[in-house]
Amino acid sequence: MVICRFAFRNKVHFGVLNHNNQVLIIENPFKVNGEVVELNHPPLDLSEVRLLAPTVPSKIVAVGLNYFDHAKELNMEVPDEPIIFLKPPTSVIGPEEKIVLPSQSQRVDYEAELAIVIGKEARFVPIEKARDYILGYTCSNDVTARDLQEKDIQWTRAKSFDTFAPLGPWIVTDIEPDNLKIELFLNSELRQSSSSHNLIFDSYQLVSFISEIMKLNPGDVIMTGTPPGVGALKPGDVVEVKIEKIGVLKNYVTNSFSVQEIGD
Ligand code: MG
Repeated sequence: MVICRFAFRNKVHFGVLNHNNQVLIIENPFKVNGEVVELNHPPLDLSEVRLLAPTVPSKIVAVGLNYFDHAKELNMEVPDEPIIFLKPPTSVIGPEEKIVLPSQSQRVDYEAELAIVIGKEARFVPIEKARDYILGYTCSNDVTARDLQEKDIQWTRAKSFDTFAPLGPWIVTDIEPDNLKIELFLNSELRQSSSSHNLIFDSYQLVSFISEIMKLNPGDVIMTGTPPGVGALKPGDVVEVKIEKIGVLKNYVTNSFSVQEIGD
């Protein structure tokens, strides 16, 4: 099933996308334990709605260095436990929105990542039960100010600028997360290409590991790490994260917030 969040006539809704590219409005799935409850509303055409980030997470937990091929590329040892950090909910943007390059950084990179979306509250979840707590998967881009990451001991500043967490275009449920092709295109050129098969810690291990540390709320996101081939963004770029069985998350790159966005 494909679950989206969208704006229609100035209101925000959740919906399920059917095979005719129609959207059926549903209850907020994160308020009903990840269930899909249809509301009595005529279907809308996908072309009539504006897709938004498919979740409003209370937090994003991201994983550093989680692809065997990326560790090899960097000549780094494979970690024995996941290396995790947080990105704030304020960094989230949706499909087709603009990534804004901040003036504090001279080097901002893209990182294509498979994202897990939590469906129900998860705490102390064993690996074999982890799938029960996952609503589905979406595409994400762990945008990173690489120079600030290298300069600061903590990664918070480098990972947390507004617009640094594009998510979307929607959540796909009922897929196996462990062998999905993941690609990144910069201005239509292929820059990253791997498979979630190369993950050092897989989705279920990550949900379990993180739930031993902190409660995961419905709607929370886990960014599972990026494969080899990360590189810099510049104003005017178009960056697309494409994941098999999910879709394409497309964003534009600029170096200034528009007047309207500042006004908001
Ligand atoms: Mg990353």
